[in-house]
Amino acid sequence: MHEMSLCEGILQIIEDEAKKQHFSKVKWVILEVGTLSGVEIPALEFAFDVVMKGSIAETARLEIIELEAQAWCMQCAKTITVKQRYDACPDCGSYQLQVSSGDEMRIKELEVD
Ligand SMILES: [Zn+2]
Repeated sequence: MHEMSLCEGILQIIEDEAKKQHFSKVKWVILEVGTLSGVEIPALEFAFDVVMKGSIAETARLEIIELEAQAWCMQCAKTITVKQRYDACPDCGSYQLQVSSGDEMRIKELEVD
């Protein structure tokens, strides 16, 4: 499952930060997930619990913020919001769109003790 390896990556970052900042417990993990990232939120939540078990983030709560994707429409020469990859521009119907954000996932914030 794709979400498992994402959570392993998150745990890696948390452990690196724990060494740098000397915290021993994570209370909240706030993630930003773009709507085009392909991440399934329920699968991510499930994987988070499994992967964090036995780690310093075992009791951490997960908050997920979904980010709308933005793309550049070459026809309109402006930034528009897209709901799915390969969507047409809602204004002009063009498919010449360059996705500029919304296909990533990142840690926005860690709340630690
Ligand atoms: Zn357009």
